[in-house]
Amino acid sequence: MFINTPSKKTSNPTKEKTNKMHIFSGNYPYHPNSYQKKLNIIDNPYHKNHRFVFMHNGQCLASVDTDVILFFKASDLKKEINSSDCIFLGEFNDNLIFAHELNKKESGSLEKIGAFFNLRILAGNLSIEESNFVAKAAILIDWHKNNKFCSKCASKTKQNLRGQTRKCSNNKCEYQIFPKLNPAIIVLVMSKNHCLLGRQKNWPHKQFSTIAGFVEPAESLEDTVVREVFEETNIRVSSIKYHSSQPWPFPSSLMLGFTAVALSSKIKLNDNELEEADWFSREDLASGLIKLPPKLSISRALINGWINYKY
Ligand SMILES: [Zn+2]
Repeated sequence: MFINTPSKKTSNPTKEKTNKMHIFSGNYPYHPNSYQKKLNIIDNPYHKNHRFVFMHNGQCLASVDTDVILFFKASDLKKEINSSDCIFLGEFNDNLIFAHELNKKESGSLEKIGAFFNLRILAGNLSIEESNFVAKAAILIDWHKNNKFCSKCASKTKQNLRGQTRKCSNNKCEYQIFPKLNPAIIVLVMSKNHCLLGRQKNWPHKQFSTIAGFVEPAESLEDTVVREVFEETNIRVSSIKYHSSQPWPFPSSLMLGFTAVALSSKIKLNDNELEEADWFSREDLASGLIKLPPKLSISRALINGWINYKY
C-alpha cells in the first residue's frame, strides 16, 4: 500500500558536500565505540530516546503531512514490542534507531500516522543519513526472514546481538550467521564520443542503463566487469577504473561502479540477458531519445559523469 509521493526535503547539506556519495550509502551516523556502549541500554524499546523504522513487506512507514517523518516511537504501534524483535540500526540525532517488521494487521493499525512506501519512491525524499537507515532496515529484515534455520544442523536460529547476527539455538552447535550481501558491478563503457547502454526486456519502453551483473565466486571485480560486458554485449574492455559504490536494498546488493574503455565496437547480445544494447552520444542522451535510469541510482551518476566529461 502506498498513497501519494512524500514531499521533497528542501535541504540536504551532506549530499551536496559529497560528490560521490549516493542515496542509501551511510554517513557513519554512529561511532563504533558508542555503539558498543549503548548495546547495554537498548533492551527497553519504550525508552524515550528510542525510535523505530517500521517495515512491512519491503515497504517503509513514513508520515508525509508536512515533511517526511521516518522514525516513530514504539508506543505508536498498538501492540507491545519485544526487544528480541528489534533490530538495532544505529544512532541519529541523539536517538537510537531500530527496525521492526510488522505483520499485515499491525501495519493496518498505523494508517492514521502514515503510509507504507516503496523504498525507491521514499529514498529520494530523505536525507542521505535517513536513506541509509531505511536501506539497512530493509536489508537486515530480509536477511532475518530468510535465515530462520541453521545451515549446519537445521535447528532454529534466533536473533543475536540486537539483530546484527543470528545464532543457532542448538547448544551443541551455536553457529553464528552474519548478514550476507550480494556484490554486483555496474560499468559505464566508453568509446570515443559514445557510451554503451543496454535495456532489459522487462524495463519500461526506451529505458536504458549501464551494464551490470553479479560478482561470481573467485572473480576479482575487474574480472566481473570484463565478463559481464562481453557476455551481454560482446564488447571487450580495458582501462577499468573504480568510480564509487552504492548499497542497493532490493533486496541486499552492493553496487560497485566502474568506468571502462571499449576495445571493440560491434555489439552482439551473447547471453540474451539484454533485449537491446547500443552506443549513444551525448547529443543522443540530451535529445530525450531514451529514458535514463532514476536519479538516485549509481547508474545515473556514472552516466552524468560521462556527459560532463569527468572520465
Ligand atoms: Zn546449528
